[in-house]
Amino acid sequence: MGVLSKRPKGTKDVLPAESYKWKAIESRMSGVAELFGFREIRFPTFEHTEVFTRSVGDTTDVVQKEMYTFKDKGDRSITLKPEGTAGTVRAMLENGLLNEALPQKVYYITPAFRYEKAQAGRLREFHQFGCEMFGSADPAADAELICLAQSVLGLLNLDDVRLEINSIGCPECRKSYQEALLAYFNAHLDALCETCHDRLRKNPMRILDCKNPECAEIAKSAPQITHYLCADCQAHFERVQRYLQEMDIAYTVNPTIVRGLDYYTRTVFEFIADDIGAQSTVCGGGRYDGLVELMGGKPMPALGFAMGLERLLIAIESRGWKIDPPTPCQLYLASVGEAAAAKAVVLTADLRRSGIYAECDTMGRGLKAQMKYADKIGAKTTAVIGDEELASGQLKIKDMKTGDITSSTFDTLCDDIWECLSQKEPRNPREIREEMTNDLGEELVQRFMSHMLGGKISGTRNMPEIDGFDDLKDLDKE
Ligand SMILES: [Zn+2]
Ligand SMILES: [Zn+2]
Repeated sequence: MGVLSKRPKGTKDVLPAESYKWKAIESRMSGVAELFGFREIRFPTFEHTEVFTRSVGDTTDVVQKEMYTFKDKGDRSITLKPEGTAGTVRAMLENGLLNEALPQKVYYITPAFRYEKAQAGRLREFHQFGCEMFGSADPAADAELICLAQSVLGLLNLDDVRLEINSIGCPECRKSYQEALLAYFNAHLDALCETCHDRLRKNPMRILDCKNPECAEIAKSAPQITHYLCADCQAHFERVQRYLQEMDIAYTVNPTIVRGLDYYTRTVFEFIADDIGAQSTVCGGGRYDGLVELMGGKPMPALGFAMGLERLLIAIESRGWKIDPPTPCQLYLASVGEAAAAKAVVLTADLRRSGIYAECDTMGRGLKAQMKYADKIGAKTTAVIGDEELASGQLKIKDMKTGDITSSTFDTLCDDIWECLSQKEPRNPREIREEMTNDLGEELVQRFMSHMLGGKISGTRNMPEIDGFDDLKDLDKE
């Protein structure tokens, strides 16, 4: 295939058969973020390259090897964003949001670009859900953010992912740590890869992130940051942990988490799904108290996290969570003859304007082919307009599952369709429950409540009134 018909390596087409899953995930993410007081921010796909070299850090793999950087026609150096935080900080500063009431809390769902080796769950154009919080140095903010990430993952049926946290200290306490690292790695200089020789001079902590197996082996026994924290950083870390315990959020301290980017300080954390292969981190984040100042603002504490949507989707599907596809066609209005076809077009428009997903022929097909298409798109009901129906203004609605026929007229078609669709055979409570839990708002509130309160609220409080509701309560006990 030529380049015209082949997408670039590391990119993905999300087709209609998949895109509804993305929508479902995204609406859950933004729903939870808004419950925590975060509001959406949208910012450009590309920035001046300096935004990333300054913030992400020019000793990182991202900046050294992975950025899509190019000169535009005005000879400016432009980079496609490799992550969301730097652009967010730039936008917050440029628009003066950090001068407004603090804390400022924003979230985004955005594509990001890195020139990496393409592998499962890792694309060159990938998508991130990120939350960033500005203004609070308090451990309560760290706990809030971790709780938010955990709630999002819980709502995506990923309650079983592990939380690992660490503190990488402040620039003060990191000085003595860097010295200890320097001494340690200098003693193992010969075994380190070439990139790590470079890192040793610029930022020895980056060696802990090296993917080279020999470097990773040496890094295992390297000094650990947690032994070098200053009193303030130690106290902060302990308070964060106490909050997590009090919020019933399980975690382990993993002293080897340093995060790949230069701007992190103090708390760093990752959520890990063990069953999705080598790329098992589904969420990463932490505190970056120095970044706002680094990017030209006043000193301001800040923190955030990001989740990769592609990896999340792999984790979600590996756990067998079925996301409901969109509503199938509710009525296919077939027609025979030109005049009937024209009538079908107008009636279909009316139906749609009254909230019914209706279809009619736009291909000039014969009746048999129209019905075949109706079957293909899973139409729940069909009706046919021919000369007779045109003359009388009456038509028959056929339920495609039961074969039942209902008489209707052009004038009452909308109401009759609603009637037909609601008259299904009595459903068992489990079906009703499944339908209800697919109601985003409802599920969101309930699962969120049971998360926050450890199931102390039964979750039936906000359920809409519905027939068979009493049976549902019994299901809760199963
Ligand atoms: Zn410190
Ligand atoms: Zn290395």
